[in-house]
Amino acid sequence: MKKITRRDFNTTLVKGIGASALVANAPIACAMGTSQERKKLGIALVGLGGYSTYQLAPALLDTQHCYLAGIVTGTPQKENLWATKYSIPQKNIYNYENFDAIKDNKEIDVVYVVLPNAMHADFSIRAAKAGKHVICEKPMAMNVEECDAIIAACIKNNVKLGIGYRLHSEPYTQEVKRFVKEKTFGKIRYISADAGYYSGSNPGQWRLDKKLSGGGALVNMGVYAIQSLIYGTGENPISVSAQEYSTRPEYFKDTDETITAQFEFKSGVVGTIMTSHNVSANRLHAKCERGWFELDPASTYIPLAGRTSRGPLNFKQESQQKLQMDDFAKHILFDAPNLVPGEMGKRDMMLVEAIYKSISEGGKKQTLNFAPKFGFGG
Ligand code: NAD
Repeated sequence: MKKITRRDFNTTLVKGIGASALVANAPIACAMGTSQERKKLGIALVGLGGYSTYQLAPALLDTQHCYLAGIVTGTPQKENLWATKYSIPQKNIYNYENFDAIKDNKEIDVVYVVLPNAMHADFSIRAAKAGKHVICEKPMAMNVEECDAIIAACIKNNVKLGIGYRLHSEPYTQEVKRFVKEKTFGKIRYISADAGYYSGSNPGQWRLDKKLSGGGALVNMGVYAIQSLIYGTGENPISVSAQEYSTRPEYFKDTDETITAQFEFKSGVVGTIMTSHNVSANRLHAKCERGWFELDPASTYIPLAGRTSRGPLNFKQESQQKLQMDDFAKHILFDAPNLVPGEMGKRDMMLVEAIYKSISEGGKKQTLNFAPKFGFGG
């Protein structure tokens, strides 16, 4: 268990922790001197674009175990706006150049990297070197080599690493994982997942610039479909074959528009994915020995919906980002399992690379050699 010393505590406390959590985390409770007070971790968001503005920052107003303590932005005009809206003191505001000084800021425990993909590795590694825990958005990095460098930096600096796959904290997804674990519908025989959206007409965006994105639909949305296949079967695949389609080459000049891929799994399950920046699709469907289960939508952050051959699923809807960041904070504070470890981001990047390789070889089947649970979270 990571022990938190008195020096580590900042002034923000959270009240009303359940008795069982306190027993499990006795050193923390003792350090506090009271059984009813507990530190909230301070998070700094790096990159104040759409995802930070409309999802993460609002979610951090509701989180139980962490709060928005700081920001890192390359746009000075955003500083006052955010400082006022979220009561962020000037000393907790950084830009990309002075970011490394964050190491001396005791109010920041976690750095959440929410930048274009090409900047993930640089800022995650700098955050780790500053001694801060790291959440890195998906896709984890531009390639497997960068994923390895992030993981190594976090190990070397003894900080925790999580990837921004919010669905692992989300109840419909957790129910799918339960179906798989308990074999509710028997063995799974076939699974398919689609993840895409119509990218419209905005050719200047960084997601269409390979230098900043590392790829197109596959790295942006395809990772959700890959994830669906893996938590929807409970297995890593043993092979993949893939195809790429382009219907608007004049728009998708630099990055992939639509990709399909077929996977084999050791247990005999066959899986397919479709990912696109030209087709709106968001679905997971599994055919099993004794029925089927489905999520549609399966990976949006508007409410998910699901049904099975036995009837509809119905779970309370809460901010997925709130649940995700609280789960990561619990991992740090209470040694709860890391639901989305760095290895998961690396595994998905290995699959992305295998898919691109298959496409470049005319759809040739790529053999995969993952350990059975490599990249699985707790
Ligand atoms: P965005 O374009 O809305 O914001 C990008 C931010 O990065 C902006 O604040 C921009 O100023 C800054 N930036 C710094 N250097 C830049 C450069 N060279 N080019 C462009 N922007 C630059 O993007 P976003 O939707 O917030 O996505 C950011 C990251 O979050 C991406 O990695 C994306 O995949 C991820 N994301 C994850 C989810 C999720 O559900 N987990 C959802 C959306 C985005």
